[in-house]
Amino acid sequence: MAIRKITEYPEKVLGEVGQPVTEFDQDLADLCADMFETMYNADGVGLAAPQIGLNLRLFVMDCEGVKLIAANPEIISTEGEQSSQEGCLSVGKVPAVVVRPMKATLKAQDENGKWFEREAEGYAARAFLHETDHCNGKLFIDHLPKLRRDMIIKRFKKEKNWK
Ligand SMILES: [Zn+2]
Repeated sequence: MAIRKITEYPEKVLGEVGQPVTEFDQDLADLCADMFETMYNADGVGLAAPQIGLNLRLFVMDCEGVKLIAANPEIISTEGEQSSQEGCLSVGKVPAVVVRPMKATLKAQDENGKWFEREAEGYAARAFLHETDHCNGKLFIDHLPKLRRDMIIKRFKKEKNWK
């Protein structure tokens, strides 16, 4: 296992729609192990493949008891609404309030290629939505009004000592 370098905004791969996962082999299992290790090392609750520079529809998460590997994820239903703080390892964990559905049902393939469906609510539902967005080239800040979005990016760049 190895800790991978986390890709940060505005690297191009974060804005690209991921390629489907087609091989469910040892390489994929090894990749997922690296992703978990990278996520735990960064104190994250979810990590998607584009966040380690790979253009792939794949994420791992461990959030409020929901620990899973999701290849080719899709959100098949949502319900209700929640408004709370969200952050992203690729945007320096700068937090912003994002409105999301309260419940979400994820459909994805596990590391063996077997399809499953899993429902979650609250923070775990938020992770389903956030990580699935990554696989579609979308960041949480893309859900914000432009002014809010610009503020988050500005703060992130400042924290990174950019100009
Ligand atoms: Zn993220």
